[in-house]
Amino acid sequence: MSQPTPLLLIAGGSRGIGAATAIAAARDGYDVALTYANNKAAADNVAREIHNLGRRAHVIKADTALEGDIENIFQEVDAVGGLEAIVYNSAVTGKNSSLAEVETETLRQVLDINLLGAMIVAREGAKRLSRKHGGKGGSIVFISSRASHYGSAGEYVWYAASKGGVDSLTVGLARELAPEGVRVNAVSPGPIDTDMHRPGRLEEAIKRFPFGRAGTPEEVAEAVMFLVSERSAFTSGAILNVSGAA
Ligand code: NAP
Repeated sequence: MSQPTPLLLIAGGSRGIGAATAIAAARDGYDVALTYANNKAAADNVAREIHNLGRRAHVIKADTALEGDIENIFQEVDAVGGLEAIVYNSAVTGKNSSLAEVETETLRQVLDINLLGAMIVAREGAKRLSRKHGGKGGSIVFISSRASHYGSAGEYVWYAASKGGVDSLTVGLARELAPEGVRVNAVSPGPIDTDMHRPGRLEEAIKRFPFGRAGTPEEVAEAVMFLVSERSAFTSGAILNVSGAA
């Protein structure tokens, strides 16, 4: 009997790094389940590109701050079958300010999407991928940020702290799931040219970057797909900087 096409789930696959990863995954032979929160048109464009590459795309609307939406993602993924890997890419920064000026609601939203959402998606993924739970093993990749080391003072320290949590989650979960056949890694991008930055921020910051430029979403996607695939079979618990030395 022929094997089903492997399925990669990308939370936040509609724009930026997530969209580039979805397309790179299709190129590497995966069908892709990609989620979006608000931007259906962008998600549909990514799905079209995946179809053009001869693979299937499943577009799912989900706010990963909401556990019910995450349950829905996995119901859809279970119905498709063949889940082999998960990329948790969804994240927001909240409006730039000092900590003294930020609303508690922003702090909750950022932590709920960036960290709690990553944990719940990884938990549900582990139940499906882990050999202990009857799965075949697989790979989980979190998208962290170099902000976890630099702290994003004066801009969004809460965002940086959420990514510090993602780094710890990567290391701990990698050890927890290693005996169960699931590898867990993170990619930690430096400044990448996406919608995440307020207008003018990157142009201003470029002057301080060692490479003298920002990275592209496609350059991050290459690293993500290395960690997703068996090309990195002995790599787990790694946090791979894709940051042009920043
Ligand atoms: P982006 O272009 O702003 O895309 C963010 C993605 O997250 C979109 O797919 C968006 O969906 C989704 N999303 C937003 N709110 C969500 C929610 N409530 N629930 C679920 N998904 C939600 O961001 P990006 O720059 O590609 O960043 C991708 C990842 O890389 C993030 O984890 C970010 O922290 C990390 N990163 C980025 C940079 C950078 O310089 N860009 C640097 C370091 C790390 P919609 O399209 O529906 O809004």
